[in-house]
Amino acid sequence: MIKWLLTIGIAVLALMLWFGKGRGGGAATRAPRRPAPGPQPMVACARCGLHLPQADAVEGEGGRHYCSPEHRRLGPGASAGR
Ligand SMILES: [Zn+2]
Repeated sequence: MIKWLLTIGIAVLALMLWFGKGRGGGAATRAPRRPAPGPQPMVACARCGLHLPQADAVEGEGGRHYCSPEHRRLGPGASAGR
């Protein structure tokens, strides 16, 4: 009788582990949709030198980054070197 209980217990444990793994994997595949929560790549505005996250930067010509569309319109300026 105890053997049966043990067998059933092990089977239940195995099932729990199996489903736990499957659920964890599902969450893991869903998680990377969001950008990495860690440190973000920072870029400097080619016009004024302001540092800002690359996600917030405005991309301009030649792979340059700007803090705003206004600065992108003005282009890389002399004030950057200050
Ligand atoms: Zn700027």
